[in-house]
Amino acid sequence: MQVSEANSDVDETRRTSDARHPRVARPVVHRRRPDVVSALTALERLIRRIPKAELHIHIEGSLEPELMFEIAERNGVRLPFASAADVRRAYEFRDLRSFLDIYYAGAAVLHRARDFYDLTLAYLARAHGQRVRHAEIFFDPQTHTARGVAFETVLEGIHSATRDAERRWGISSGLILCFLRHLPAGAAMETFGRALGYRDRIVAVGLDSSEVGHPPADFKDVFDRARAEGFLAVAHAGEEGPPEYIRQALHLLKVARIDHGVRCEEDPDLVAELATARIPLTVCPLSNVKLRVFPSLREHNLKRLLDLGLRVTINSDDPAYFGGYLLENFLGAQQALGLGRADIYRLARNAFEASFLAPTVTRRFVEELDAAMAEKTES
Ligand SMILES: [Zn+2]
Repeated sequence: MQVSEANSDVDETRRTSDARHPRVARPVVHRRRPDVVSALTALERLIRRIPKAELHIHIEGSLEPELMFEIAERNGVRLPFASAADVRRAYEFRDLRSFLDIYYAGAAVLHRARDFYDLTLAYLARAHGQRVRHAEIFFDPQTHTARGVAFETVLEGIHSATRDAERRWGISSGLILCFLRHLPAGAAMETFGRALGYRDRIVAVGLDSSEVGHPPADFKDVFDRARAEGFLAVAHAGEEGPPEYIRQALHLLKVARIDHGVRCEEDPDLVAELATARIPLTVCPLSNVKLRVFPSLREHNLKRLLDLGLRVTINSDDPAYFGGYLLENFLGAQQALGLGRADIYRLARNAFEASFLAPTVTRRFVEELDAAMAEKTES
């Protein structure tokens, strides 16, 4: 989730989100019995050990305060904070305004290819440390071109970091160019024009920023063009927007995956369609709680969607802002929703199978996952 400045509609959505997601009974909590406690520990160890893929990460949303300060200093950008600790304290945002203030202050430090390189390498280093083997990374060129930074500068920095991370750690990446949906469709088309020279570096196009009031249908032309030019397509839909936006993303934008998609649950026919077509959902549990799509992790519908047969994956969205990277999202969801070993396997496997990797590469990762699942560990 990334949010634009002109975004009062998001506030409106948040005010009504509790009504959309009424409280449900708490799941049975596993505690006290020592054998159960050790089983949980074994699950945590399993989550840490298995190879993982991440399909929903906005690179600008991975800017940690320390790096924000370092880049601001070398670029001579003045930040409205005294120290990195100050920024981190402000990350405990209470509302949209405080989130946006920090988000834009953060993005504004990024000017040179080196800045985008450092940002991306920092994310990939952390992902590698969490056994992420493959990442499909969103970037928002319009956030930067609007500040006078060239499209090429953004792409060059991000791409070089993905290449070096693969060489250094063996972590592979794909880049997804996202259009900001709060800006006009014409601006998206113009941005897409810049991407045409970089087909070898950009695997897909996506749609992000504030959802409500900016339906996927508005972007049909640019998605038609992108697909005709050989790009794959994904779109944020059904996070704060209604199930109808998910339908539009599927039928008009013809996307291969839905980003978030959690509101599909309100429409049983849509759930059936998503299940039959095996459309992956890139769900972001911690983000959904921070932005109040759900009041708490315990009330998140991830487990229900999984049990309905949907191809759910776990992701971090904007990890620097929302309190955790992929591992923390897995651990948080497991603990809050009582996910079992089979759920963890399904979620991890779904991510590899929903990725844009070649089938032979996907198969290799699934074999690696199977081997990690079968590993005997002391409990
Ligand atoms: Zn997102």
